[in-house]
Amino acid sequence: MSLTPDLPSALPAGLPPAASPEQLDAMAADLRAAGLKPLRSAGELEGLSADGFVYSPVLQPLLCGLRAQLGVSVSTVDEVLLVAAACGRHQVSLTVRGAATGNYGQCIPLAGGLLLETSSLNRLRHLEASSGVFTAEPGIVLSDLDQQLQHSGRELRLVPSTMRTATLGGYVAGGSGGIGSLRWGFLRDPGHLLAAEVVSVEPQPRLLQLNASGAEPLNHAYGCNGIFTALTMASAAAVPWQQVVLEFPDWSRALEAAQQLPASALLLNALCAVEAPVAARLPWPQGCPPAGGSGHRLLLLAAPDAMPLLQSWLPQLAGQLIWQAPQGQSRGLPLRELTWNHTTLHLRSQDPQLTYLQLLLPQPEGPALEGLKARWGDDLLWHLEAVRSMGRQRLACLPLVRWRGPERLQELIDHARELGCLLFNPHAITVEDGGLGVVDADQVAAKHRYDPAGLLNPGKLRGWA
Ligand SMILES: Cc1cc2nc3c(=O)[nH]c(=O)nc-3n(C[C@H](O)[C@H](O)[C@H](O)COP(=O)(O)OP(=O)(O)OC[C@H]3O[C@@H](n4cnc5c(N)ncnc54)[C@H](O)[C@@H]3O)c2cc1C
Repeated sequence: MSLTPDLPSALPAGLPPAASPEQLDAMAADLRAAGLKPLRSAGELEGLSADGFVYSPVLQPLLCGLRAQLGVSVSTVDEVLLVAAACGRHQVSLTVRGAATGNYGQCIPLAGGLLLETSSLNRLRHLEASSGVFTAEPGIVLSDLDQQLQHSGRELRLVPSTMRTATLGGYVAGGSGGIGSLRWGFLRDPGHLLAAEVVSVEPQPRLLQLNASGAEPLNHAYGCNGIFTALTMASAAAVPWQQVVLEFPDWSRALEAAQQLPASALLLNALCAVEAPVAARLPWPQGCPPAGGSGHRLLLLAAPDAMPLLQSWLPQLAGQLIWQAPQGQSRGLPLRELTWNHTTLHLRSQDPQLTYLQLLLPQPEGPALEGLKARWGDDLLWHLEAVRSMGRQRLACLPLVRWRGPERLQELIDHARELGCLLFNPHAITVEDGGLGVVDADQVAAKHRYDPAGLLNPGKLRGWA
């Protein structure tokens, strides 16, 4: 048995062979005949075949250097159909790319083949004024989409901290939650994705209109079981969120506030807690005093009507208001770009030996945090995010972890599990291993229906293998 069962030491077994030169030439000729421009230069393919997997020292040696053999950009659904048909005819594998900000190598082709670049398939097709339900194409950048919704008084319910670059398609197929998860839970929770337009991959591809239950198995499936060409989702009424930074001299009081604030009726869209050594290394927005080294901080997005009560509550919470500015109007980084995996990004930029984990903490959270700290000391730095999970307010933990090799990381994972934490493993290649570890039969069945030859993003859906 492997000493590190949660951490892969090789690529998944059973990957298809890379495409032959003859297959690639035939594919390229078909694409050119259809008016598309196949990309084949080493530089272009290298640029297309990279994402944020470098945050994981486990994935880095496995995925580094893997490349698509052919790339193509599309801007219409007809072009997606043409590419899917060519891949189906020539039996060449196809991996879809949004903005390539995923952290698990979601859009890294494990077996070469074609990389489908979708950033120009990016229209907001429709926004229903009465309900706020919108339909948009997958390549739209989330901040552009949000801006367009804001014109009609709406906003995205959930966004990753990478919203300035990440696409809608990549978020639904490869992301999970982020800003808004405190109120709205996670992307796979029923009620977010209401319908999807999907292209199958076969010699004669189909353009399918799936309702919410039909689209569900494609949600967070890394593009392994269909290509999104449009997504219909619910939005929220726009709120002029206030960015708020609170400081606490004591970590246990900061933790208490992180537990109490989301359990109140104050309208909050995000709450991120960072312990002092993390706060000291973050690049704070202009006007926000840098952290002195001993202050633990809470980063909030709060509705304007939450501010008076929040301020009057602070003495009791033993916290202090350090900074406040309306979102979208402050200078420098927006506060959300210090949260979620941006916290990891900023700390890694100063110390590349840091990596991270993603844990849902048991309740009450204190004993698990104390148990982990007692054993792992400064090898773990606390970064928590308030989320709503299965209808309950919880705290997720994205600790910064000092990398001391796979065996130590596995020991830490085992210890966290012993203490009741649920792991969402950021050092895994497959859809299943990055989630709850179990095969979802509906995801596999959808792959049989929409990708019968198994050409989409090979190696990422363990249940297919
Ligand atoms: C600093 C940092 C912070 C982050 N913060 C968050 C966060 O807060 N929350 C979060 O959930 N994630 C976060 N992420 C991960 C990532 O940024 C998001 O999940 C993002 O939404 C992915 O979008 P993308 O366009 O970059 O997708 P990509 O990385 O390009 O693709 C992701 C997956 O989607 C598939 N895909 C893309 N388009 C389609 C399509 N049209 N049809 C089918 N499949 C498709 C790809 O094949 C791939 O498997 C973070 C990453 C970094 C580096």
